[in-house]
Amino acid sequence: MNTRVNDTGILYIVATPIGHLSDMTERAIEILKTVDLIAAEDTRHSRHLLNHFGIDNKLVAYHEHNEADSANGLIQQLLSGRSIALISDAGTPLISDPGYVIVSRAHAKGLRVVPIPGASALITALSASGLPSDRFYFEGFLPAKSGARKAVLESLKSLSCTLIFYESPHRIMDSLIDMQSVFGPDREAVLARELTKTYETIKKDSLAALINFLNVDVMQQKGEFVVLVGGKQADKNAEITEEAKKILEILSSELPLTQAAKIAAKMTGLKKSTLYDWAVANSC
Ligand code: SAM
Repeated sequence: MNTRVNDTGILYIVATPIGHLSDMTERAIEILKTVDLIAAEDTRHSRHLLNHFGIDNKLVAYHEHNEADSANGLIQQLLSGRSIALISDAGTPLISDPGYVIVSRAHAKGLRVVPIPGASALITALSASGLPSDRFYFEGFLPAKSGARKAVLESLKSLSCTLIFYESPHRIMDSLIDMQSVFGPDREAVLARELTKTYETIKKDSLAALINFLNVDVMQQKGEFVVLVGGKQADKNAEITEEAKKILEILSSELPLTQAAKIAAKMTGLKKSTLYDWAVANSC
């Protein structure tokens, strides 16, 4: 199937591998071969990737230091009918990478933006983490300084969904130590290191145990990291008063639990499901 519906004036957002080159998609290769221009975060880095796939196309720099200026030039090219592919050093552009300025301006000009999906470290990590994946919060990189980093972590402390962070090797220990001090040593977390590469490690444990794991084996502090932290667990017993517990205990000694929870809910104003869950959790 020809993936290009209309060649002119389209901005393609093309994902590239995060490590393993075989993760490059056929569609990505086709688009990169046929667009008029490739805008890349680091042209030298991207030239290696393009050479590997036999792509000999024009490259221009689009990075965070020239994003506003170069977006203007690229938008003019799109408006004149040329097609452009945006790539980053690895993974999906715009995900903790440049691209937001050109994509938002392209929409403002009524230009077509076509995503060419592929790898992204956060989704790759989440899919293999064993942490709840139905709801998650992606923070990206935390601030470099501990005070600012702890302030961000404090603001995320009560979220019940899985938290996802990007981290570099020279800050991984400091960040984990700050996470431990804000979330507590027992909070469950996952280190996803060097995904899709030779020394890939995916390790799930408490924050305290993961810090120890990296301390014991300093080689594990090297490479690229996604850190995933389990959300705050609701304290299911917190809202149940001593009086409610007593009522439920008496009723459930005489009645089936569903009926006991229903009557206790009417008497106390608490939710039937909360009372039922508490009784089940405390039945052993
Ligand atoms: N745009 C990329 C994406 O879609 O994932 C992310 C770019 S961001 C500048 C780079 C960060 O992503 C790294 O510092 C690391 O936290 C994470 N990352 C990228 N590749 C990774 C890999 N193979 N294993 C683990 N983390 C990775």
